[in-house]
Amino acid sequence: MSNEALFETDRDFMVDSQIVARGVHDPRVLEAMRTVPRHCFVQPDYRYLAYTDGPLPIGSGQTISQPYIVALMSELLQLKGDEKVLEVGTGSGYQAAVLAQLAKEVHTIERHANLARYAASILEQLGVTSVHVHVGDGTLGLPELAPFAAITVTAAAPNVPDILLAQLSEGGRLVIPVGSRGSQYLERWRRQGDHYDQEDIIPVAFVPLIGEHGWKP
Ligand code: SAM
Repeated sequence: MSNEALFETDRDFMVDSQIVARGVHDPRVLEAMRTVPRHCFVQPDYRYLAYTDGPLPIGSGQTISQPYIVALMSELLQLKGDEKVLEVGTGSGYQAAVLAQLAKEVHTIERHANLARYAASILEQLGVTSVHVHVGDGTLGLPELAPFAAITVTAAAPNVPDILLAQLSEGGRLVIPVGSRGSQYLERWRRQGDHYDQEDIIPVAFVPLIGEHGWKP
């Protein structure tokens, strides 16, 4: 069996045992998780762990998120395929690649320029052309490209930044971990005119969102 075939087998096992087993059922999300090669976004030393059930270090003190969390957050965004999406926290670029399978256009923003550069190079090598990688403070969103049908924040915020809610289109969804630096709740917000509905999803533990509307460095 080739390495790629072995990785594909591991990926299928990951989806069945970690993601479907925990209740993620959107067929488009499951197909994206079966398709995107997570091992390409993981540092070479950790590649043998690419399909295991947890986050992994990616440098600069940051992590690639647990596969189940990537799948859950993607499902919560309720994407149909024609949306413009914002991801705050590019990290490795893995979740952006998953979102590229689910939406028309993905903008992802990362505060560490070295991570953004590396993620962009992997996405390019894989031929992913609908992801646009930006460098900057994602707590400000990307007002010049708003509105977004969906926004996902992959680092933990002390509060939901109003400036991100304001960049949702009508009916748009924001998925974000909110809480202390050590533990948070994953929340989903939905815009209904000038009103926003909020749901608590599950307890999570993310690295901090650092920026003007997040934690101070
Ligand atoms: N989505 C990523 C992936 O698939 O690899 C995982 C992201 S990691 C859990 C969180 C990322 O958010 C880190 O790379 C961190 O540098 C980034 N981050 C934290 N604060 C940020 C901010 N204000 N703007 C942009 N990125 C930020």
